[in-house]
Amino acid sequence: MTLRAVHNYLRHALSRSPAGFYPLLAVYYLTYRCGCRCPFCSDGEGRPYWTLDDPALPAPRVLELLARIRRHTDHLVLTGGEPLEHPEVDAVLSGLPALGFDGVVLTTNALALAGHLGPIQRAVRYLVVSLSSLDEATADRWLGRPGALGHALGQIELARRTRPAGQEIIVSAVATPDNLEGLPALYRWSQARGFRFALCPQLVGVHPHPALRAAPAYRAMFELLLAEKRRGARVNGSRLYLEHMRDLTQFRCRPSTTLAVAPDGGVYYPCLELGQVAGNLLAEDLHAIRAAGLRRFGPEPACDNRCQSACALGFALILNHPASLLAEAGWVLRSKLGRGT
Ligand code: SF4
Ligand code: SF4
Repeated sequence: MTLRAVHNYLRHALSRSPAGFYPLLAVYYLTYRCGCRCPFCSDGEGRPYWTLDDPALPAPRVLELLARIRRHTDHLVLTGGEPLEHPEVDAVLSGLPALGFDGVVLTTNALALAGHLGPIQRAVRYLVVSLSSLDEATADRWLGRPGALGHALGQIELARRTRPAGQEIIVSAVATPDNLEGLPALYRWSQARGFRFALCPQLVGVHPHPALRAAPAYRAMFELLLAEKRRGARVNGSRLYLEHMRDLTQFRCRPSTTLAVAPDGGVYYPCLELGQVAGNLLAEDLHAIRAAGLRRFGPEPACDNRCQSACALGFALILNHPASLLAEAGWVLRSKLGRGT
């Protein structure tokens, strides 16, 4: 952990809503384009990303923007849409190592992995593949064309076989009312290949899909993940995080821990989910953008029970329950020593 990360963490630990912007993580939406048609694809207003205007930038401007982001945080998530559909994604990825982020995350639907593997392997430490069903008919429909599941699995296998030392592959699944029965098999598939498994509920806009709360299979899946976590399996999130996901409980959000940036450099305030853009990082200072957001949109809201996503819930728990972080560190140490229970 760098000095900057400690400094930014302390800013949030000392104030629920710091005056400046001190992100623990930046999420950059490289492009909103995507050829898939996942039923759970949704921004905070319930619109699929691929329906949004896509003001994607040319690679040199993207790298200028990422250099500005780098001044404020060590950690970067490149996402979309489907980031590999950006027309100059290889040039973007090739310029990333020089910026010196401490662990780049790339999320992808995996369909175009093979064509970009070289730059991905040089730039990306955590390769997150979105995969929510192994049922061929369901997955083909969600991925947008017949045969897409088989194609995606082939690309993921290629990435696994050729991944460089230190790169981790994470399978990221979304629990919907339509795929719950197949999630245990998807989990076992990911573990058999040495992948970490991450699971989130489908959000409709900002709220969990109403059918999930009453679905025994939803709860059972998180019980399975909690049991697997206790025995040392590669499951994303602390035990407290998994319990919150299971119960879909309300939490006190800390939105300014995450810097969410639109394809054109627009900075969301206080979060992407509320859809308010406070300024453009290519033209303005980040702290000034946050001050403008506060003036224009008011203080960060106290939200109702919503936004059970990895970033919103994960960072809220780290800050509101720092002991859970220590418990997680203890669990990692025990499992590394072969005594995980
Ligand atoms: S792969 Fe991602 S961006 Fe594309 S439709 Fe599915 S959820 Fe949306
Ligand atoms: S819960 Fe957090 S991420 Fe969701 S709308 Fe409220 S402030 Fe934004």
